Amino acid sequence: MARYTGAVCRLCRREDMKLFLKGERCYTDKCGYERRSYPPGQHGQNRRRKRSDYGEQLREKQKVKRIYGIAERQFRGYYYKALRTKGVSGHTLIQLLERRLDNVAYRMGFASDHAEARQLVRHGHFTVNGKKVNIPSYLVRPRDVIQVRESSQKMARINEALAAVDRRGVPQWIQLDKENFRGAIVQLPAREDVTLPIREQLIIELYSK
Ligand code: SF4
Repeated sequence: MARYTGAVCRLCRREDMKLFLKGERCYTDKCGYERRSYPPGQHGQNRRRKRSDYGEQLREKQKVKRIYGIAERQFRGYYYKALRTKGVSGHTLIQLLERRLDNVAYRMGFASDHAEARQLVRHGHFTVNGKKVNIPSYLVRPRDVIQVRESSQKMARINEALAAVDRRGVPQWIQLDKENFRGAIVQLPAREDVTLPIREQLIIELYSK
């Protein structure tokens, strides 16, 4: 699958908000968005033009895809899944994204950003209910227990990320047991658990055209 490999700070500047794609650096004064909070490119410093409704919807979709590091095809798949599920489609969409194993590993503090979490999952550093799972898109369920494998618990990057998790905070739907490199899913994430400014309704409107 094609993945964006360019400078990630450009993405924050494009979306006009901090997307926290670069781990600890995002909390320092080296943050690219803090230093240059205008869009990237030659005309970035020109006056921002008012966006059309379509432009607003498109940017919202791109923003959410970038936060979770998901490509278009898979993202659209989540949209269809959300449509088929009972409830508010926009909320279900966000809930599906939150339930991904790579996101959960990030939320538990085992990685300092989504890209790192994805790589750690891919490399088989986690178990779910005692079994190794290396699929980043695996959807966790209530009562699932996610743990760093014993052989990986000494990894510096996992320990460094875990040491910094308190600043970020762990959402209510997750119960973290830091000492044992383990976290449990208490309940499905609710919409209010995701505090980033996301207007999911715009994404639903875009795809339903
Ligand atoms: Fe975005 Fe982090 Fe780069 Fe700041 S440091 S612009 S929050 S990726």
